[in-house]
Amino acid sequence: MRKVFEDFPLLRRTVDGHPIIYLDSAATSLKPNAVIDAEANYARSLGANVHRGVSGLSSETTLNYERARRRVASFINTDADLVVFTLNATFAMGMVAHGLPTGSGRRALVSSNSHHSNLLPWRERFDVQFVGSDPLSPLSVEEVCDAVERWRPDVLAINWVSNVNGSVNPVAQICAAVRDLGVVTVVDAAQAIPHLKVNVAALQCDFLVFSGHKMLGPAGTGVLWGRREQLEQLRPLVLGGGTVASVDLGGYELRPLPYRLEPGTPNIGGALGLAAAIDYLDSFEENMLLEHQASLSLEIENIFSSLRGVKIFGPFDGATHLPIVSLLSTVDGISADVLCRTISDSSSVMTRSGLHCAHPIFQHYRQMGGAVRISAYLYNSPAEIRLAADALERAMHPFFGR
Ligand code: PMP
Repeated sequence: MRKVFEDFPLLRRTVDGHPIIYLDSAATSLKPNAVIDAEANYARSLGANVHRGVSGLSSETTLNYERARRRVASFINTDADLVVFTLNATFAMGMVAHGLPTGSGRRALVSSNSHHSNLLPWRERFDVQFVGSDPLSPLSVEEVCDAVERWRPDVLAINWVSNVNGSVNPVAQICAAVRDLGVVTVVDAAQAIPHLKVNVAALQCDFLVFSGHKMLGPAGTGVLWGRREQLEQLRPLVLGGGTVASVDLGGYELRPLPYRLEPGTPNIGGALGLAAAIDYLDSFEENMLLEHQASLSLEIENIFSSLRGVKIFGPFDGATHLPIVSLLSTVDGISADVLCRTISDSSSVMTRSGLHCAHPIFQHYRQMGGAVRISAYLYNSPAEIRLAADALERAMHPFFGR
């Protein structure tokens, strides 16, 4: 794998003399210089609004914004007008849950490994049931088909990759299997897109959402993709400038896709940064990225399955899981929060502790004390995983044998 250290300015930062070891990419990724420059370049050299004017700057800004949309579209293999820029994955999911036309008593079947962002939007308008008896193991195609046939939901909302333990649901097989069962399929690809190839033309889902900021893009970027006929029937959550072709005293006419779903001034610099993130990701050979992430996952399995004082939450197989792992403290008197804070303060190892926006999963396993999550990405090395383990061991050492 090409050395990327120099590309990420944050990795040059030290805290108390320690270089930062960033293992919190499942929350948000670091940004390479190319992304920072693209976002700053908007403010520095373009600066105008999009779709509003015919001045030189406005046209140039619009041209760049639409080029960014086409870049996202080519990355996931779709048409540009099916790519809706959003604030983040949560907002994109909310747009689907609130925008789908519903009658009374509509039902949503939600994968049990879901993040709150693929649960709460559904609960607001739908009767929700979970599918997946073991939230930290991949769904089986059979259990999903059984649940769909038994309960006849209108929507099946699946989280592709768990943000708790990096397990991967077989979304392609599931979407293909339920295709003819009359259910709208929605895929949360927030943790998948940083690591896996996402090809919406091959994936037989109806909607797919993801965050730009977890795949090296700027904060405040996300994407909603939908099949044309599905996006067209989505009711816009918010109307206003940018969404309408004409307005009179009695009504309005919506603009075509995707503009009807992008109210107001968008995050223009963010979109340009996201396109730069895609260019950056595409500059690596796909196999290299896959091999590198497999080496991170294998190191996670090797080192944490035998580390004294912590236990991996749920199954973790370095050969099949993405490099996201949650660790439960097994030492009396030392909580996940204390561990996270201690390794941050002592060794500048940045992780995340808590319930990871997945309270039902922690409730299911009665682990409400939470876990320290370690999530690695292309700028991490197996050596950093070992340094994180050393830092954890040092943090726990005074508590052993108490
Ligand atoms: N789904 C999953 C699986 C996630 O991990 C996250 C972020 N932690 C989200 C959705 C929400 O993403 P965003 O912060 O972009 O709204």
